Amino acid sequence: MPIRLLDERVIGKIAAGEVIERPASALKELVENSLDAGATSISVALEKGGSGLIEVVDDGSGIPADQLELAVTRHATSKLMQWDDLHALRSLGFRGEALPSIAAVSDFTLRSRTSDDAAGSELSVVYGVARPIRPAAATRGTRVTVRDLFGNVPARRRFLRQAGTETAVMVRSIAAYALSRTDVAFQVSVDGRRSFATDGRGDAVAAAVAVWGAEVGPAAIPLAPLDATAAVPGITVAGWIGLPMVTKSHRNSLLFFVNGRWVQNRPLLFALEEAYHSLLMVGRHPVGVVRIELDPAMVDVNVHPTKAEVKFVDERSVARAVSRAAHQALSAARPDEVPEVRFGDRGMAPTAQPQPLRSIAGSRTDWDASPLASGSGFRPQPFEPSSREVEPLPVPAIRGGTNVAGAAGEYDAPAEPGPGTAVAERPVPVLRVLGQVNGTYIIAEGPDGMFMIDQHAAHERVMYERILTEMRERRIDVQPFLDPLIVELTHQQMAAFERSTEELTAIGFEIEPFGPQSVAVRAMPAMMRGVHIGDRLRLILDELAEGGMGDSWLDAVAISAACHTSIRAGQPLSLAEMRELVAQLEQTEQPRACGHGRPTMLHLSQGELERQFSRR
Ligand code: ADP
Ligand code: MG
Repeated sequence: MPIRLLDERVIGKIAAGEVIERPASALKELVENSLDAGATSISVALEKGGSGLIEVVDDGSGIPADQLELAVTRHATSKLMQWDDLHALRSLGFRGEALPSIAAVSDFTLRSRTSDDAAGSELSVVYGVARPIRPAAATRGTRVTVRDLFGNVPARRRFLRQAGTETAVMVRSIAAYALSRTDVAFQVSVDGRRSFATDGRGDAVAAAVAVWGAEVGPAAIPLAPLDATAAVPGITVAGWIGLPMVTKSHRNSLLFFVNGRWVQNRPLLFALEEAYHSLLMVGRHPVGVVRIELDPAMVDVNVHPTKAEVKFVDERSVARAVSRAAHQALSAARPDEVPEVRFGDRGMAPTAQPQPLRSIAGSRTDWDASPLASGSGFRPQPFEPSSREVEPLPVPAIRGGTNVAGAAGEYDAPAEPGPGTAVAERPVPVLRVLGQVNGTYIIAEGPDGMFMIDQHAAHERVMYERILTEMRERRIDVQPFLDPLIVELTHQQMAAFERSTEELTAIGFEIEPFGPQSVAVRAMPAMMRGVHIGDRLRLILDELAEGGMGDSWLDAVAISAACHTSIRAGQPLSLAEMRELVAQLEQTEQPRACGHGRPTMLHLSQGELERQFSRR
């Protein structure tokens, strides 16, 4: 279709608003244009957080030379003729606003060639002023080059975040399309270095591994079509979701696409997480790429300026279809890949099979009545944000009253708003360590029955409280290095580092930038002595890049540092080491949960043991 001006009445109905808020919005529009043009290969180059350069090159249909000017004219589009077309829309764009909006605030060049053209042509627009069109060498497709974005809008520039953060947001938005359009080969480079590349061969798991890393590969299970009885008419759900062995502290890695459009929609998130039910730990979220297809007339795409949200005519049906598809996928997964049903689950197993043995869950009331059970988190948890039962220790004004908590609530902050009720600060009784199961759980005897302690969660709690105590008492014990340790980072990790430098220093690290993508570690908290800090630092920054978890950014950094430097699951411990750990745990203020809110221990009371063995 040729590019044409929309008529006034249509323009009036288009959701108005800022289309280009930050570099990532420009990039998203450009990539959507390439997809609309039928590209099979899209390469993206980013520099200086997008303020330097955003370039998108595709092999799509191209734009004829005589339409280049229309392409950068407001409300000119080739995708919509009249208002009613919106009800049958299959393209991502429809408003004809993106290119003109970007060209108004950047040094912009559009070079294109269609298969009918003998040569390519190029149009430059510098801060809204168009230069004459001129011939240019080109293969079929389009190249859009955006330099110096917001160069003429200094106020907007100032509101951009650090380059690393803007880059992370841009990479996330293009990653979303690379994950859903696995039939298109994406190539992304950041400041001249490759960020990721997908092969465009249509393999969803291969794309997920290329973008999100190897760990998601084995966890991905397909969302297969629902059988006739479960299917929701007119709605299909495809894609994949991750088994609960891979979860995140945020919902950024759970993507929804509606008719190919990446959308944010909380009801769908909740519908999907519902299907996991008790398989997810409090505060953890699954990963996945969920593609929903339905009649375009059943969804309104014109409700949001950046088209990030849509409105369904029948939202409940869509949610139902998503939840059923996820449920079916989780049940079909090999049972040994799904964690065992925990104490307190009642018929919530993904298989929903009746349990053959009389389960501990049968006496749930007694279990809950046990003096140590409450707050330890092994009851089924609803997925509402308020379900977080464990409150991390608040750190009172640190460092001469400077409140570093201000960093929380920024972009990337975890989805959970705040903690619910604080866990009762009941001490742990003196425990006698009996042994270790699976190199992971410490079994101990207490005055009333038996305790099972997760060694990693327990140590994490110990480390976390020690960090806070040292900070509060201003006696941070620092271990300097003779030679600095140089650690290479990805740009996401680098961005997390930039954001957290102050907080890392507060807890006893001394780390400086060392080149664009590495840091020099000069000192570390003495309590972490003995761990290989290079590897662990990357894990800490990965978690922080995902948004971290805690009441403030300082808290998030402390929690993450404690987690990644503590004893891991699967590490055999001597009896003496276990006794030491349990003794340290007994000393903590909140021994029942780690900094992330996971329980550190389970208690099987004397009474419960007797009931289970039918002695009473
Ligand atoms: P919209 O996508 O809403 O139509 P845009 O401002 O993003 O508006 O683009 C204007 C027009 O320019 C599009 O309708 C399309 O015809 C053309 N166009 C933009 N980018 C490309 C591209 N990468 N390949 C082919 N045509 C493009
Ligand atoms: Mg567009």
